[in-house]
Amino acid sequence: MCPECYSDNSRVTPLLEPRHCLENHLQYICGTCGRCICIDKDEKRGLQRWNFPFKSLEVAKLYLRTADATAKTSCGIYEILSANGRRSYKIFKCMDELKDYLKKNSDKSCVQMEPLFTQDSYKEFSSAQIRKLSANEVEQYLKEQKNCKRRK
Ligand SMILES: [Zn+2]
Ligand SMILES: [Zn+2]
Repeated sequence: MCPECYSDNSRVTPLLEPRHCLENHLQYICGTCGRCICIDKDEKRGLQRWNFPFKSLEVAKLYLRTADATAKTSCGIYEILSANGRRSYKIFKCMDELKDYLKKNSDKSCVQMEPLFTQDSYKEFSSAQIRKLSANEVEQYLKEQKNCKRRK
């Protein structure tokens, strides 16, 4: 697992419409493995991908670094249970934020009330970059992503 971005596949993201994401969105470029993680803020609400629920713990892990880097603290992934029985995984900065969310969403509960995954402490990685890719970098990255998939 990459110690900086918590993934063992350095080209796994973007998961959906990779070209669109890489060409248009701000990326967190892992200084350790080079993985690009979308850290773009939506203009209307200022929300990033990590603010939204994830279908699985594994996918939430892929975005945890962008939460850590944004909040400058080690965030945690929590398991949320909806009234209809559906489970999702959400990243919060701290327990207070989770409690706030549960207060505002009375149809939701948190199974463990502790993170399923988090780091003991927040680490800065000086070689990480937050920026958009150049056109050449996008092509190179997409090529590497394809090769990664083929090898699997
Ligand atoms: Zn994106
Ligand atoms: Zn990495």
